[in-house]
Amino acid sequence: MNTSIKNILQNNDFSKDDIIELLYANQSETKFLYQKAKEVKSGQIGDKVYLRGLIEFSNLCAKDCFYCGIGKSNKNVQRYSLSDREIIQAAQFAFDEHYGSIVLQSGEVKSREFENRVDRLLKQIRKITGNNFGITLSCGEQNESTYSRWFESGANRYLLRIETSNKELYNKIHPHDFLHIFEKRIESLRVIKKTGYQVGTGIMVGLPGQTISHIADDILFMKAIDIDMCGIGPYIEHKETPLFEQRNTLMPLNARFELTLKVLAIIRIMMKDINIAASTALQSIDKLGREKAIQIAANVFMPNITPQSYRKNYNLYDNKPCIAESPVECQSCTVARINLANGKVAFGEAGDAKHYLHR
Ligand code: SAM
Repeated sequence: MNTSIKNILQNNDFSKDDIIELLYANQSETKFLYQKAKEVKSGQIGDKVYLRGLIEFSNLCAKDCFYCGIGKSNKNVQRYSLSDREIIQAAQFAFDEHYGSIVLQSGEVKSREFENRVDRLLKQIRKITGNNFGITLSCGEQNESTYSRWFESGANRYLLRIETSNKELYNKIHPHDFLHIFEKRIESLRVIKKTGYQVGTGIMVGLPGQTISHIADDILFMKAIDIDMCGIGPYIEHKETPLFEQRNTLMPLNARFELTLKVLAIIRIMMKDINIAASTALQSIDKLGREKAIQIAANVFMPNITPQSYRKNYNLYDNKPCIAESPVECQSCTVARINLANGKVAFGEAGDAKHYLHR
């Protein structure tokens, strides 16, 4: 092994230069990076994998992110919002099947009606689950009062990816208007944390215009804001988005995949006790993508429990997996995948991030 990589891996904290070197590691050097991440994971987290039943409850979105298939301008998407009954039924399914937690995810809508609706749903879900059950929200940027209200009503985790921590790149992949302001997204993360949530963020790896230096900064950003959870996946193009035009500038899908795994490994070493999700997007490049992430660094799996008929309309990127399956099919697949990755499904455990519990 290259002595420099060997020296870097003797530490658990890395400088920007170290991270860059690790991200550039060749195949044989990468094995040592993965080995170290596995050791840290096994020592800090063990082999448990927590389940988060993912309910993609609405694709209505006021935003127009240039990478996202459900952006407002995509007129080919059939817009939907699950009924309250469908959402409660999905939460009940997760609770009955001992999933331990759910994620309520949607496009970004900022209105009194939406705030009231999520609030009402949270109260109803909490009546079913009691307190020993995780409820993550992933509903975009909201006002401080909304975050507080939802927290009081039972949500205890919030996931808001920064997408990239580089302002210039952020501005290249988002429209320039009052809905897509870099500083506001960062401020939201600060407010979410202050409110008391376990805070999760992440990036897309392999975006057009993204460099290794940007990714190193992203990792340091996540460390600096002291996250509890992390959701990172490869960027995958979607035909009906503005960024699709730049597809010829991208690194190949398998390179994006390998780079994502390296990022996860580095994060596991540097942020040893956080929860790391095995993102669905990994599986759209490599059939065993989520298993590989679990073997190296991840300890969270998000089986999709959205009713099957809606899934095709939550197509964030091309070839998104699990579109044709039902929640029950995703369930048996989940257990098989986690076993294949030598993980133990943590049925019935909410799986709070150790990092949060130690705060
Ligand atoms: N609206 C919420 C928000 O802004 O956080 C949550 C929903 S949003 C669709 C969830 C995530 O999907 C985004 O944070 C983004 O990272 C990911 N995503 C969207 N388009 C993608 C693409 N083309 N490739 C990979 N991930 C994508």
